[in-house]
Amino acid sequence: MLHKEAELNSSANDLHVLIAGGGIGGLTTALCLAKRGCRVSVFEQASEFSEVGAGIQLSPNCSRVLHDLGLEEQLRTKAFLPEGSQFRHWRTGEVISESVLGETALKKYGMPYYHIHRGDLLKILVDATKNRSEIELHVNASVESFHEERAARSGGVTIQVGDTRYEGDLLIGADGIRSVVRAGLWGEQNPRYTGNVAWRAMVPVARLPKGLIRPMSTAWWGPRKHFVHYYVRRGDFVNCVCVVEKAGWDVESWTEPGDYAELKSDFAGWHSDIHQLIDNADRDSLFKWALYDRPPMRHWGQGRVTLLGDACHPTLPFMAQGAAMAIEDAAVIAGCLASNDDTAASLQHYEALRRGRTASIQNGSRRNATVFHLSGIKAWLRNRAARSAGNHTMDKLYRYNALEATNV
Ligand SMILES: Cc1cc2nc3c(=O)[nH]c(=O)nc-3n(C[C@H](O)[C@H](O)[C@H](O)COP(=O)(O)OP(=O)(O)OC[C@H]3O[C@@H](n4cnc5c(N)ncnc54)[C@H](O)[C@@H]3O)c2cc1C
Repeated sequence: MLHKEAELNSSANDLHVLIAGGGIGGLTTALCLAKRGCRVSVFEQASEFSEVGAGIQLSPNCSRVLHDLGLEEQLRTKAFLPEGSQFRHWRTGEVISESVLGETALKKYGMPYYHIHRGDLLKILVDATKNRSEIELHVNASVESFHEERAARSGGVTIQVGDTRYEGDLLIGADGIRSVVRAGLWGEQNPRYTGNVAWRAMVPVARLPKGLIRPMSTAWWGPRKHFVHYYVRRGDFVNCVCVVEKAGWDVESWTEPGDYAELKSDFAGWHSDIHQLIDNADRDSLFKWALYDRPPMRHWGQGRVTLLGDACHPTLPFMAQGAAMAIEDAAVIAGCLASNDDTAASLQHYEALRRGRTASIQNGSRRNATVFHLSGIKAWLRNRAARSAGNHTMDKLYRYNALEATNV
């Protein structure tokens, strides 16, 4: 199937946008663009749109975009609204610092903070695309290469998907950390193993003593590791992400089964709450995953081809902002394309608006890898600083309004 080429300098609602990758970033982008009147084709390599069976935190800066897409009711139906977030001492369980979320976050940031199962979030996004006639979804559609027609006035972008070529006005590579579009633009460069492995597990709440887990996002800090847990599925499950520094293990896959005994021994000596969680985890949901990232890029796109989400700013999850950034990108790129008829210039504008913020989150997440895992006197000093930092450390991050970024 070959699509009609659109004309150069078309306004946003004439554009036909090709998106490689149907993850959280690609699908949110499709929805933001369709809302602006663009025609969008999303190409996903997998046989269905799905996400791993783990949780994800959605902070107010990205809830803002999702609510603007009309998804508030769906999110409220599926998600859990935490009352706050806290850091705790790995052995004693002492609360090092605590921030209020819940109604306070709503008042402060104008948007809620959600904890949601990734499968639920992806389903919400896929269902929303089905209500938009502008969006066409392709599965089993791996984008292998692309070609940009720069010289012709009616220039556009062609992508190769198996035996089929598709044409559009521009291409957005939302194809994750090992992005083919990124490699096509800038050459192959492997992401770097950060030395951290993340275990993930789901714990059915029915198996836990009542009141064991507070309705908060909790991160336990310990030497060379940390343990994060929070409720998902409206409080029916506790999602655990257990991060351990490990050299020499670098399998980047959510489907690598984790060994229960290894996880137990990784957290030997930790507080009994942690062991209650590990002991009650659903063994089928125990997986481990090597964490990779890349340094911030100096440029993301060229001409009518650009990148979005993990394809351009993969990050350690230690600020819980990877998907949030992809969702923000989606709103900003749609805003830029709608406000400028020159497609290539719009994409440059998008990049200029996004590079600084995303780089600072990538760098901050890297710093947290060190800060969370300190020991001895350094940990003591960190805890003291965290206690006095108060409730405002995330204010700037959460107040960001991607919907208005193009007006700034
Ligand atoms: C342990 C852990 C915890 C995390 N917790 C949080 C959190 O709480 N909050 C948060 O905001 N972020 C979190 N993140 C980060 C977040 O998961 C990612 O940043 C986010 O999923 C990136 O979305 P994406 O759409 O850019 O990329 P991806 O999710 O990687 O999606 C890319 C899609 O492209 C497809 N694809 C790849 N290549 C091709 C191709 N050639 N052609 C077609 N399709 C292709 C893939 O199959 C995939 O569906 C966490 C990450 C980890 C590892």
